[in-house]
Amino acid sequence: MSAYALASLLHEGKAKRVHATDRPDLVAVEFKDDATAFNALKKAQLSGKGWHNCQISALLFEQLASQDIPTHYRGLAEAEHGGNWMLVRPVRIIPIEVVIRNRAAGSLCRQMPIHAGTPLEPPLLDLYYKDDGLGDPLLTEARLERLALLTAEERADVERLAREVNTALVKVFDRVGLILVDFKIELGYTADGQLVVADEISPDTCRLWDRAVEDVNERILDKDRFRQDLGGVVEAYGQVLKRLQGVCPEPLIYR
Ligand code: 5GP
Repeated sequence: MSAYALASLLHEGKAKRVHATDRPDLVAVEFKDDATAFNALKKAQLSGKGWHNCQISALLFEQLASQDIPTHYRGLAEAEHGGNWMLVRPVRIIPIEVVIRNRAAGSLCRQMPIHAGTPLEPPLLDLYYKDDGLGDPLLTEARLERLALLTAEERADVERLAREVNTALVKVFDRVGLILVDFKIELGYTADGQLVVADEISPDTCRLWDRAVEDVNERILDKDRFRQDLGGVVEAYGQVLKRLQGVCPEPLIYR
């Protein structure tokens, strides 16, 4: 018997559903097969995507935890749930998407005169206001201040934690021959006020290039395969998972 029971649906997003459990300190996240891009203008069902993103996120959250980087992750649900369920601590999500870019790609190349793949040292940190209705706009200093979502101290904590996450992720992906081009994370506060990494860390939220492949399309192992209609999306996610499994311990099952 599990140490928790699933309860009502709390929230349904584009890629995940969040369910309450019978314990106030635990919620269950179900990773869906729905793929969306361009603010949900493009949609598809990709069988196995949810499972892969759940497994990859579990491995990466455990890597972060092993380096004392706090996350909302508590463990995977038992296999009978299908491998696309994760138990996490409830958090109050800060409505800011933190993007860290180690190389130029995506929106940066559309908005600035910079070639895709150009290394960015130090990594560029961009903050976006998390609001689908507004298209997740890039924040300026003045707009961030106007929104008053964070104190100066909280903002410094957010940026410091995001950069620590980047350092840890760059290392683990480097060990498996992948370049972490950029990624988006979401952070939140637990009931006791701890700032933690929340949401997911997966090929849906990261750009990952195969270091050994030169072809600019073939090297892509992330959601850009879906965005750019390159095909082989779930197969690419499978490669990322397989490589990580080669260097990471088996993820915990929450019991
Ligand atoms: P860009 O600014 O180039 O669109 O995205 C930068 C990085 O953040 C990419 O790795 C991209 O996948 C991720 N990212 C930015 N916004 C979102 C978002 O709303 N959803 C997801 N899944 N990833 C995002």
